[in-house]
Amino acid sequence: MAEKVLIIKYGEIAMRGNNKYIFINRLISSIRKNIDHLGNYYVVRDPGRLIVEDRDGELDYDLLIPRIATIFGLIAICPGVRVESLDKDMIYEEAYQHMLAHHGDKDVTFKVKSRRANQGFETPSMEVNMELGGYLLERMPNLTVDVKNPQVVLHVEIRNSVYIHSKEIKTYGGLPYGSSGKAVSLLSGGIDSPVATWMMAKRGVEVEGVYFHSPPYTSEWAKEKVLDLAKRIAEFTGEFRLYVVPFTELQLYLLDNVAHDKLTIHLKRAMMRAGEMIADKDQALSLITGESVGQVASQTMQGIHAIGAVCNLPVLRPLAGMDKHEIIEIAQKIETFDISTRPFEDCCTVFVAKHPVTKPRLKYIEKSELRLTELDRLLDECVANAEIIDF
Ligand code: ATP
Ligand code: MG
Repeated sequence: MAEKVLIIKYGEIAMRGNNKYIFINRLISSIRKNIDHLGNYYVVRDPGRLIVEDRDGELDYDLLIPRIATIFGLIAICPGVRVESLDKDMIYEEAYQHMLAHHGDKDVTFKVKSRRANQGFETPSMEVNMELGGYLLERMPNLTVDVKNPQVVLHVEIRNSVYIHSKEIKTYGGLPYGSSGKAVSLLSGGIDSPVATWMMAKRGVEVEGVYFHSPPYTSEWAKEKVLDLAKRIAEFTGEFRLYVVPFTELQLYLLDNVAHDKLTIHLKRAMMRAGEMIADKDQALSLITGESVGQVASQTMQGIHAIGAVCNLPVLRPLAGMDKHEIIEIAQKIETFDISTRPFEDCCTVFVAKHPVTKPRLKYIEKSELRLTELDRLLDECVANAEIIDF
């Protein structure tokens, strides 16, 4: 008898010495977190992979795969079966049943690729490939052999048990969430910053979001959008903390006290400083933004310089070298795009200059900030009054 299982492959962590076991444990707990509430499962280690089994009955691929596919550090999920016996007839019969279930309904080219890790099994893998190939051809007229470029590769892995699979669902790769330290991400309701946040989370960085909210100049809809984006990110990371920082007072103060064409630069500097205060409080070691070089006036090299100079922490800008269409492609893939582009109305654009400076000079920006005697107090206040929402 064969049992349905998921065979889960993980990526580059396999190469990382002693950390490997910590990383694999993280992957197992992420998988458990995502599926334990759905049933009664085992997550078992097998050399180089993880196997998910259903303890209570037949495993439901369609239920589990989407819930596991969001986990960073995994490279592929293969729906397959495990045969406990090393009896060749039984293995071939189960391979046939598997092919029938997954590729029985249309003409496909295929080959068998077996691997014999268990030398207790007597038939060499080349022979298994040929014998099983013939066995399948006799029973399934829709199959044709193509050893060079087959549409379907039937894997038969002969270990202590035998694993049979023929489909590989590619997942995102990356590193297990939380394995690369913590960073605070400046998360707006736009297209870019959710993608930037996701990209760093994919590299194993534990992320927290900070959203600067300026009611009534930014609407409740804008905040709703950010909350929905945070919720979506949490589906990848398992959990996500969002700080909603009330920014109106500080923003109005800057509006009254700096040159209008440099307002955006001062605003972004204030955001960076507030982000850094939250990072310090939560022991995060970097900031993340969705800046992309040249995208808007404040993202010229001079703009990025003038904004970034206010930070002591490193600023990670994973989108720096990407074109908008490349960013949008990722936003669509991770399903943040539709949330980010949801229409909403901000009731006022007083904070947007018609002709913003494109080449701000840090020296002058810093000089005009010396006159902003209330800035530190307002920053302390808005950070202290931040609303914390945990997803
Ligand atoms: P996005 O699509 O992420 O909003 P953008 O193209 O609109 O980015 P800017 O408005 O110049 O670019 O913002 C640059 C970055 O500053 C954003 O990617 C984000 O990281 C941060 N940021 C901007 N506005 C806010 C905000 N209200 N709250 C939190 N972070 C913000
Ligand atoms: Mg924006």
